Amino acid sequence: MNENNERVSRDGKRILSDEEFEIMRHRGTERPFSGKYDAFFEDGLYCCADCGHILFESTHKFDAGCGWPSFDRTAHTNSVVTYEDTRYGLSRVEVACRHCGAHLGHVFPDGPTETTGMRYCINSASLSFDPKTPNA
Ligand code: FE
Repeated sequence: MNENNERVSRDGKRILSDEEFEIMRHRGTERPFSGKYDAFFEDGLYCCADCGHILFESTHKFDAGCGWPSFDRTAHTNSVVTYEDTRYGLSRVEVACRHCGAHLGHVFPDGPTETTGMRYCINSASLSFDPKTPNA
């Protein structure tokens, strides 16, 4: 067994970086305002950086000012799974890829009130961007 096997992405296409491995496989968090998709607003789909599952659409992305990519909803009802995270003495709702279980971030009920009121606060390192317009 090669020691790098656990770092192979779940789609088998590449080796995860240290940051991707820490965030997606060990439920880590990137520093705010550090991620490549925080201030990025092109049209396309955001997929799981581990397995490629479609997670979010650019049309649902908004600038929450929090330093992480933020979405007011998921792309599909089967995009993610959520569960309670009680680490650090907090009660938060953790968001993971429904296909492979990779950690994505958390969801908070402080999103745009004119739409869903939800804010999916997602690590850039957990996302890969596909510049394909939704439904195209
Ligand atoms: Fe995944």
